[in-house]
Amino acid sequence: MKRTLRSLENQPLEGLRALVRVDFNVPIKEGRVADATRIRAALPTIAWLRDRGCRVLLLSHLGRPNGKRAADFSLVPVAQVLEKELGVPIQFFEEPLAPDMPSKSKRLRRGEVALLENTRFHSGETANDPKLARAWAELADFYVNDAFGAAHRAHASTEAVAHMLKPAVAGFLMERELEYLEEKLANPSKPFVAIIGGAKISGKIDVIHALLPQVDDILIGGAMASTFFLALGLNTGASLVEADSIDLATRALEAGGTRIVLPTDVVVANELATNTANQSVSREAIPNEASVYDIGPETRNDFAQRIVRAKTVVWNGPMGVFEVPPFDAGTNAIAHAVAEATDNGATTIVGGGDSVAALAAANLAERVSHVSTGGGASLELLGGKSLPGVVALDDA
Ligand code: ADP
Ligand code: MG
Repeated sequence: MKRTLRSLENQPLEGLRALVRVDFNVPIKEGRVADATRIRAALPTIAWLRDRGCRVLLLSHLGRPNGKRAADFSLVPVAQVLEKELGVPIQFFEEPLAPDMPSKSKRLRRGEVALLENTRFHSGETANDPKLARAWAELADFYVNDAFGAAHRAHASTEAVAHMLKPAVAGFLMERELEYLEEKLANPSKPFVAIIGGAKISGKIDVIHALLPQVDDILIGGAMASTFFLALGLNTGASLVEADSIDLATRALEAGGTRIVLPTDVVVANELATNTANQSVSREAIPNEASVYDIGPETRNDFAQRIVRAKTVVWNGPMGVFEVPPFDAGTNAIAHAVAEATDNGATTIVGGGDSVAALAAANLAERVSHVSTGGGASLELLGGKSLPGVVALDDA
């Protein structure tokens, strides 16, 4: 358990400078923020600090500028959105390492917010360079990490700096992510059903193995199901498979036995196009020239029945090529079943960029217990690994 912002409730914070690592790694299109979800997700932490009279200095990366200043990766568009969201002007520090920065940080007013330019404009960020971390630490009195989506990387702004500024605590978003992805899953209410889909087995095999001892069922969909079919000796036609991961699938089936539930039927087509001719076939009857693009209707029903009876549900990865209808039907059926499970009192957790997008497209994001904001970080946690950005924070 890690120390959180809440633990500072009764401390005198008035006038202190808080260095807050946030995840403002948002999509930028034509110089504008295309989706502000991540900016809004950090607002509770920022508001709490402002209410207590802190001076708030925000740090974030954006994209991969590879240690060099590049206009395309500037946080200026983020600053504009943040001002609108906060309803007050903020400062933008373009040169956070300039010699006058420590005194500038002290001249911020109580409750004032400053955004520092992209952490990855400095090559020391990804190298976890203590010199860079020290320069940021000089600007503040304590550290808050609210960047769950970046916590799986040991970078200067997520790891090194947490050792230099004390206290170093988890913000509200980070706290909530850990509460769901770590604490609730350490002792899950049963039945516990995991749904794993998406393109590749290789990226999620650790998650499958880490969940196996805990779950009642792991429901497998997406392209990775086809690699499992190969492990069963079935023909997968022209489907997307990972031929070099068949062993991984075989070993998971050996370890999981009947807890690994594969689709019994699938939707196949000869080309991937919107509303193209398609058919549902048994997994034993996939035609040579066809590809699997979704789970079939029998599987949708079977998966949905298991999900709505569960008390804990974790979902990561779409069931098919949900970007191209009608191959979104399986993913949508699962999204509705997860929402229904929530209504039935289950704790439901959805992670993974594409799964979250599918959930949002079906208008169901409000009907699950927790939507994770960090794809990579949530996969690492589910896979049983610890996150360097979390480990570096103070223990509770
Ligand atoms: P997440 O982001 O939720 O973790 P992934 O990135 O692992 O999910 O996988 C999502 C991608 O998998 C989507 O782009 C989807 O089109 C693709 N996918 C799912 N099922 C299939 C399939 N049967 N064939 C090809 N691609 C698939
Ligand atoms: Mg993805």
